Amino acid sequence: MKKTFVTLSKLQEITERHPTPFHLYDERGIEENAERLKAAFSWNAGFREYFAVKATPTPAILKLLQKHGCGVDCASMTELIMSEKCGFKGGDVMFSSNDTPDEEFVKAAQLGAIINLDDVTHIAALRSLTGIPKKICCRFNPGGAFEIANKIMDNPGDAKYGMTREQIFEAFRELKALGAEEFGLHAFLASNTVSNDYYPVLAAQLFRLAVDLKRAVGANITFINLSGGVGVPYLPEQQPNDIMVIGEGVRRVYEEILGPAGMDDIAIFTEMGRFMLAPYGCLVTRAIREKHIYKEYIGVDACACDLMRPALYGAYHHITVMGRDGIDKSGAPADHTYDVTGSLCENNDKFAVDRALPKIDVGDLLVIHDTGAHGRSMGYNYNGKLRSGEILLRADGSFELIRRAETAEDYFATVVW
Ligand SMILES: *Cc1c(COP(=O)(O)O)cnc(C)c1O
Repeated sequence: MKKTFVTLSKLQEITERHPTPFHLYDERGIEENAERLKAAFSWNAGFREYFAVKATPTPAILKLLQKHGCGVDCASMTELIMSEKCGFKGGDVMFSSNDTPDEEFVKAAQLGAIINLDDVTHIAALRSLTGIPKKICCRFNPGGAFEIANKIMDNPGDAKYGMTREQIFEAFRELKALGAEEFGLHAFLASNTVSNDYYPVLAAQLFRLAVDLKRAVGANITFINLSGGVGVPYLPEQQPNDIMVIGEGVRRVYEEILGPAGMDDIAIFTEMGRFMLAPYGCLVTRAIREKHIYKEYIGVDACACDLMRPALYGAYHHITVMGRDGIDKSGAPADHTYDVTGSLCENNDKFAVDRALPKIDVGDLLVIHDTGAHGRSMGYNYNGKLRSGEILLRADGSFELIRRAETAEDYFATVVW
């Protein structure tokens, strides 16, 4: 059974001050997880997590991770600006973008960010815009399918990202000739992997490529960025990843491949979003309508504009019915079947379809789990719906609004009447 990190009585306290819907984040969970990650890679002196800003672009969250040593991974102008305003600078920032506009290269270079080139043609672009920095990274795409133990995890061959093996060699040669002195390698080959083997298998590929690049080009490779892709168990029956086992797995291939090549001073970087935040955020919403036609519907006050994943990819998000007015339903038997819907004029605006849940009454609070990453950040404004705010539940039980809900004025701010 999936547990909520917040109790019904705490939610009632919060909703007296801040009406539903809102995304709620668990400070203690975020901090403990960030420390576990550091412990898992403590064998690597240069290890650093660069939190993928797109997952949760909220300054209070970025600053919380910053306290635990994290940098940031950006892919757009506003992500760069937000990171700068939060005090990240220079080597605290990875810029792993693709189809990159000129002005974003310029901004990243001004910040002193580590630029991760998605394509070999970006070398000429960057050279003419800002010159080639001393420290640079290239993104690799091996093509084909990414398999772990004969199971296909994802299809890099269909992905728009990164350079082919031949292009990486060409890029390193060209960059070296243009004055680059420190090189990094990056790849993101499978998404939301609930497997302790993803990082070790990916790392082994990148480590072997690094050895080949050092031999062929004489490049000084100082870091390898395993990027994101480490998943979380959205389904209650899934076993979570064990980050300690993952860290050990990467250490094993590091010693096996980089050790004999005399390259065991390479720093490991990660760019995780989902693993860092998803389980430590939830969408809190209230049942406002019920409807009985060919199916049983419960209408809530949140909609796909607050959480797009179910509508977009049919993603499963667990729901706990919390109850109301002292009626705690969080442990009640799931003896009803509902579609839980938002109010968009789109039939895919359903947080759950044919879901077994306890009886829901109008007024009940519902917690939609695992929305801490790629939740609020994917929100949009279809049907003129306004996106919800965000609240941080502190380790001491206090809570703080860290982003207010949108207002009609926000929605109208860009139009010309
Ligand atoms: C999205 C993304 C990440 C984070 O991915 P998660 O699956 O959230 O860990 C990291 N790096 C890059 C380049 C990305 O595009």
